[in-house]
Amino acid sequence: MEPDPAASPGKKGGEWLIKATGIVRRVDDLGRIVLPVELRRVYGIEERDALEIFTQGDQIVLRKYLPLCLFCGSGAEVVAFQGKSVCGKCRVSLGQAPAVQ
Ligand SMILES: [Zn+2]
Repeated sequence: MEPDPAASPGKKGGEWLIKATGIVRRVDDLGRIVLPVELRRVYGIEERDALEIFTQGDQIVLRKYLPLCLFCGSGAEVVAFQGKSVCGKCRVSLGQAPAVQ
């Protein structure tokens, strides 16, 4: 089974692959930083997109937010259904679940 990329952002073979960008940004008086447009383009981050925040030791890692399936934790083909995130496989399974008597 392929490892779920959503479960371990930036991690490969147990090691974090950190790449320096050479970009330095100051935190403003409200605690905000601006993500450089080049990075937003590369990572497909649009205005209003949600980012998930991780920490690793003394580092803060940002990743475009991918909702995970409520049932199996997968990040594949996840859509919102009645306010909950459900993946494609679980949607199919739910369709085959026996009706409550
Ligand atoms: Zn699922």
